[in-house]
Amino acid sequence: TGPRVVVVGGGFAGASFARALKREDPTIAVALVEPSEPYTACPMSNAVIAGLPDIGAQHFGYGGLEDDGIVHVPQRVVRVDAARRRAVLADDVMLDYDRLVVAPGIDMRLDAIPGYDAAAAELLPHAWKAGEQTLLLRRQLEAMEDGGLVIIAAPPNPFRCPPGPYERASLIAHFLQTRKPRSKLLILDAKDAFSKQRLFEQAWTELYPGLVEWESLSFGGKVTEVDAPARTLTTEFGSHKAAVVNVIPPQRAGAIATTIGVADQTGWCPIDPMTFESRLVSNVHIIGDAAIGGAMPKSAFTANAQAKACATALANLLRGQEPGSPKLTNTCYSLIAPDQAVSIAGVYEPANGLLTEVQGAGGTSPLDAPRSVREEEAVYAQAWFKTITQEAFG
Ligand code: FAD
Repeated sequence: TGPRVVVVGGGFAGASFARALKREDPTIAVALVEPSEPYTACPMSNAVIAGLPDIGAQHFGYGGLEDDGIVHVPQRVVRVDAARRRAVLADDVMLDYDRLVVAPGIDMRLDAIPGYDAAAAELLPHAWKAGEQTLLLRRQLEAMEDGGLVIIAAPPNPFRCPPGPYERASLIAHFLQTRKPRSKLLILDAKDAFSKQRLFEQAWTELYPGLVEWESLSFGGKVTEVDAPARTLTTEFGSHKAAVVNVIPPQRAGAIATTIGVADQTGWCPIDPMTFESRLVSNVHIIGDAAIGGAMPKSAFTANAQAKACATALANLLRGQEPGSPKLTNTCYSLIAPDQAVSIAGVYEPANGLLTEVQGAGGTSPLDAPRSVREEEAVYAQAWFKTITQEAFG
């Protein structure tokens, strides 16, 4: 029998990894542990919030992985015995491994903003894990009266999908403009700058004049307290009451990373950028949002790229060969309207123990581009979503 690899989590990172490893070496026994099926994808979920596609377009099952010879175990990993190389599941079943790959995504820090706990998230959704939360925010927007204020509270770095809050702002602005035109949108930000900022600001001025306002950290944007039943947010400079409030709280690696001991005091998982092996527990590798990816943003594109690089490195290591040195790319498309998008791209390689951006290799969409360029990029965004989900789930 060949080596055994157990994967924790069947999101973009875990599912892409399992399939890539089987392609690298079909003799490796790959088990993917993931309790939820179908998986609900976050990319394009901002469009669901704005009432565009149905949530069904975000759903993916694990049948494709099983067709590839991967064993899908519909359970949760609750513990790992690293000395014995054994993962323990919620039903007490134990899975022995030669290498463990941990890809649990993120958890919200529900202790970071006073008043924003699990109960508050049912009133003021974060919608930063797609599914019920996405639909809750959509229903709240649909139910609100014309003339209301919508607030998005954006988190500090690092967090899942750096351009995500601003794509969401653009699509909610589009929804308000077309359905509730007397309404306003306020972004309260715990940062002074954000991804593709000039492109987003240009889009808001051109497409949604007077509708979107952004308050940065320095201008009192950081939310310091939440009163969920009153839908009121306190900031360093005052307080805001709104009709609909979307709090995107600070984040950390999925809880299992802390249980296993692969997360450090930052809440994220330090890795060797050549192999994605944990710096804290040997024979355990971390990919996707949970890892400290150096300069790489936490995106589905990144998760998929890291998964493929990790699969190559692990297949080599399990054959007793050198892992090789990866070069990874990331591209993030963001919709600024249902049929218009902007993008940012980067190339990354191991340097000084981290994944470091290759200078001069990436870039963003041009400012001041004609509408046709933005429309073309929206077509690319849809094509990318189709390709990435096919690669991950078959
Ligand atoms: P996830 O996709 O979250 O998968 C983790 C999986 O692990 C989950 O299915 C979970 O159930 C499972 N899990 C957790 N704990 C355990 C356990 N103990 N045992 C077993 N399983 C476990 N990225 C892009 O590239 N492009 C975009 O346009 C884009 N748009 C986005 C828009 C929004 C609104 C958001 C929120 C995110 C967006 N992203 C986008 C980011 C992208 O969704 C994430 O970066 C990506 O999902 C990370 O993949 P992952 O596999 O690391 O984590």
